[in-house]
Amino acid sequence: MRSPTANPAEKLLFTPGPLTTSVTVRQAMLHDVGSWHFDFNDRVRFIREQLLSIAGLSRADGWEAVLLQGSGTYGVESVFATCIPPDGKVCVVTNGAYGERMIRILQHFQICHVALRSPESEPPDLHLLDERLTADPDITHIAAVHCETTTGLLNPIVELGRLSRRHGCVFVLDAMSSFGAVPIDFTESGIDVLISSANKCLEGVPGFSFVLARREMILANEKHARSLSLNLADQLRGFDKNGQFRFTPPTHTLLAFEQALKEFFVEGGVAARQQRYQANHAALIAGMRQLGFKPFLSPDVQGWIITAFHCPDDLRFRFTDFYQRLSEKGFIIYPGKLTDAETFRIANIGHLFEADIRALVAAVADVQHEMGFDASRIHQAANPLECFQAVPLLL
Ligand SMILES: *Cc1c(COP(=O)(O)O)cnc(C)c1O
Repeated sequence: MRSPTANPAEKLLFTPGPLTTSVTVRQAMLHDVGSWHFDFNDRVRFIREQLLSIAGLSRADGWEAVLLQGSGTYGVESVFATCIPPDGKVCVVTNGAYGERMIRILQHFQICHVALRSPESEPPDLHLLDERLTADPDITHIAAVHCETTTGLLNPIVELGRLSRRHGCVFVLDAMSSFGAVPIDFTESGIDVLISSANKCLEGVPGFSFVLARREMILANEKHARSLSLNLADQLRGFDKNGQFRFTPPTHTLLAFEQALKEFFVEGGVAARQQRYQANHAALIAGMRQLGFKPFLSPDVQGWIITAFHCPDDLRFRFTDFYQRLSEKGFIIYPGKLTDAETFRIANIGHLFEADIRALVAAVADVQHEMGFDASRIHQAANPLECFQAVPLLL
């Protein structure tokens, strides 16, 4: 049985965004609004203020929420395009595909950088990072991913932030898939720049990303921006001037997001969302384990956003077939993105409740029965560790 709020005509998305949204969030989009209209500008201002309040930040202390058209990657790219001075050097702490994406962005902008890699199943080696930061005083920025959506691993942002501060660096955090559902204390974690987007834990529809940072941080390197459309400083100045986006805003997405924020606060904010997702996650792990599936991560690093499961090492299991059969029953899961293990992923974020998770697990049990595979047989691949790597400035 699916949750009473689920629309029986729609498949449920167990994906990390776009994700399942409430009917009321989708209904909020059924209006065409002029982007010059004062009412629309008020709504954009409401969204920017509420994003700061979720983060426990205020404009009085110099913080700004800058909205930017495009998906989350555009937000990350805008930060590197705008906030890194010409002589800056970024240390990317990575253990998954989204950390690697940061490196690719830096390569495109030809920004000097190094990478601290750890295996996809492990948090970063903080001791090694400390050593590297001591040995290389040219490093000005540390960039990391909070919830590495590749696996669902939660990286230790308080420790990373502390190291960053101790070495006088700017801490840039991709909190795309955690913001709104994992408590983030900007002061304790020393976060200088945070990036997230509309279609993750705040349960809006895709269309824009947002950056939370101090005004001075956004404007400091304005002259050196490496992109026009991704120029955060210019974007902020646009909001300053007339409350508007510089270029065509994603109007319908913004209307949906305004409604999503209202629902977020009615639910009880970050604590309530964390609680619901944790209950979803617990139901998912318990149900899948009972069917024999094994999570990729050990529980001490596993967050409550998304879970990677080992693909069964059984000829009767084929992911595309498994996916297709679940889809026909109304459940959309997510393929794996790991480099060194065969996995598939199930996210439990979005407008999903325990009843939806139980319905998914029941469907997985049916599909398992139809296909006849043994979920507990898994292929353990070796996990090669390559730590610090100087990354060449090549694409
Ligand atoms: C979703 C996500 C992004 C952004 O990906 P898009 O495809 O641009 O939406 C970036 N980082 C993380 C950790 C994410 O989960």
